[in-house]
Amino acid sequence: MESAKIVIIGAGVVGLAVAWKLSEKSESVYVLEKNAKFGQETSSHNSCVVHSGIHYPRGSLKAKLCVEGNVMTYDICEKHRIPYKKLGKLTVAITEDEVDELEKLMRQGQDNGSEGLKFLGREEVKKLEPNVDVEKALFSPSTGIVEPDELMNHYFAKASKNNAVLAAGTEVVSLRKVDGEFEVEGVSQGEKFTVTAKTVVNCAGLDSDKIAAMAGLDVDKLGYRLHHCKGDYFRVGGRPPVKMLVYPVPKGAGLGIHLTPDMAGSVRLGPNAYYVDHDSYEVESTEKEFREDVVRFVPLIKEREIQPDSAGIRPKLQGPTDPFRDFVIRHEADRGFFGLIDLIGIESPGLTAAPAIGEYVSYIYQHEINR
Ligand SMILES: Cc1cc2nc3c(=O)[nH]c(=O)nc-3n(C[C@H](O)[C@H](O)[C@H](O)COP(=O)(O)OP(=O)(O)OC[C@H]3O[C@@H](n4cnc5c(N)ncnc54)[C@H](O)[C@@H]3O)c2cc1C
Repeated sequence: MESAKIVIIGAGVVGLAVAWKLSEKSESVYVLEKNAKFGQETSSHNSCVVHSGIHYPRGSLKAKLCVEGNVMTYDICEKHRIPYKKLGKLTVAITEDEVDELEKLMRQGQDNGSEGLKFLGREEVKKLEPNVDVEKALFSPSTGIVEPDELMNHYFAKASKNNAVLAAGTEVVSLRKVDGEFEVEGVSQGEKFTVTAKTVVNCAGLDSDKIAAMAGLDVDKLGYRLHHCKGDYFRVGGRPPVKMLVYPVPKGAGLGIHLTPDMAGSVRLGPNAYYVDHDSYEVESTEKEFREDVVRFVPLIKEREIQPDSAGIRPKLQGPTDPFRDFVIRHEADRGFFGLIDLIGIESPGLTAAPAIGEYVSYIYQHEINR
């Protein structure tokens, strides 16, 4: 049986950022990842957007960590020559009701500390994006795009430099509290293993509710049960129809099917949002649904070829009819699990927020666990 000071379960962008920040404060940090390589799940199946923070209620962790993570992410990219493009984003209103929604978003964004927000009228929008035809738009200059793989490589390199160890191909199947420590059991490269640790950080993404349940928490009672909510993407053929990110006013479980240029300039439509009881990265939506949504604000999409591209799965705490749910990032000491930090429901803006989440977890560790 091996022993570690800190075991982190899951090496997505969040687990890696947490490993980076915790390994600055502690030796003997192990990251256990079931896949052969880090970042193979949600962290590499998303829109690659650095969000500005307009979409989340004031005072929520999503708002705070997104706004902080936005600044940190650009700073990291700039300092370490990681490719990014601060393209700016238009959230567009077509109807009067949507204009009201835009005004709410503007107030929320300003409350959250999102920089440089401003309204643009039809003609101003046309000047920036000739193919976008709308009543009004909210311009957010601090929204941009990054390469998640490059960010993860960076967080991994930072953690490794601090001697954190990544054990890939290592699946955790049991987690128990024994004599003030956690006993973590699993299978690594086909062999059974056990490691003990005083601190366990649950960064298991889509399986983070299962890890909390393994530890002994009643996930249904606590509202930790995850709903998997899928989003498909289509790619637009021909010349890119937009240069910036263009979003409708959000509706339903996602942010609405939007247009996102990638680092090469090619544009994807998506993601939509539908709850699933199976996990697959196959595109299951129809071209018709995507065209109908986007043609409302980018009419030329009607004639463009669009091809199924990719899909991602959101680990949502919020079920289909539930109101807003925040990230759960919590030391479970008061529930009898001193040393267990749960991160559950880390959906969007988790990529943007990751470095701020790393710092937040490190703060909890220093002030509540390693006192
Ligand atoms: C469609 C979509 C679009 C999105 N777009 C954006 C965006 O544009 N901008 C943004 O900021 N955010 C976006 N997000 C959110 C963002 O991608 C996630 O918040 C982020 O990737 C979550 O990272 P993670 O490390 O928590 O999860 P993951 O990347 O899922 O990592 C969790 C890891 O835990 C491992 N694991 C699970 N169980 C075990 C176990 N038992 N033992 C060992 N390892 C285990 C998994 O294999 C996995 O590698 C989007 C998400 C989706 C689905």
